[in-house]
Amino acid sequence: MKVLKTYLLLMAGAALFQQCSFSQSSHSKTDAMDNKDKKNTVYSRTDTTKVNLGDEEWKKLLPKEVYYIARMKGTERPWSSKFENFYEKGTYYCAACGNPLFKSDTKFDSGCGWPSFYEPVSKESIIYTEDRSHGMVRTETQCGRCEAHLGHVFNDGPPPTGLRYCINGVVLDFEKAQEAEKKYNEKKQEKPNQ
Ligand SMILES: [Zn+2]
Repeated sequence: MKVLKTYLLLMAGAALFQQCSFSQSSHSKTDAMDNKDKKNTVYSRTDTTKVNLGDEEWKKLLPKEVYYIARMKGTERPWSSKFENFYEKGTYYCAACGNPLFKSDTKFDSGCGWPSFYEPVSKESIIYTEDRSHGMVRTETQCGRCEAHLGHVFNDGPPPTGLRYCINGVVLDFEKAQEAEKKYNEKKQEKPNQ
């Protein structure tokens, strides 16, 4: 167990180093902050307008590891996500465009090595596509707003949906419930009719 922990720490260190060396910013920050540093102009947690950009444009907007998963349909190493053993209450957003994807109360321990959820925030959160790669037939999940690759959905999840959304943590941005609520109230004050 100790050996595994050391290994994981080393891998985490390597990942951090990679992130720093590719980041435009000189100081190390989380993925979400990285997005802000890169001036991701399409990132919004309130704008529901569809985002339709080419890979070259995404490359300029996204941190390297987010681009690799979201646009190249990559997969992060299992058990590498900071969200794997993460139990804060709040909302998970698409790291590419800010679209709300999952609430923490639909997150569960699937043991599969990736953050898992049984239900998305809304029907519009996710696009479903058949994926026949790697000799399997799976259902790919993509962001409903920007079509970023998120992961896959399987039929072996818990009730009430029986679904298991197996999602790459790299393409998730998390915001604690309290902070989101504060922003929501501020927004409501700006637009009293809503
Ligand atoms: Zn998105």
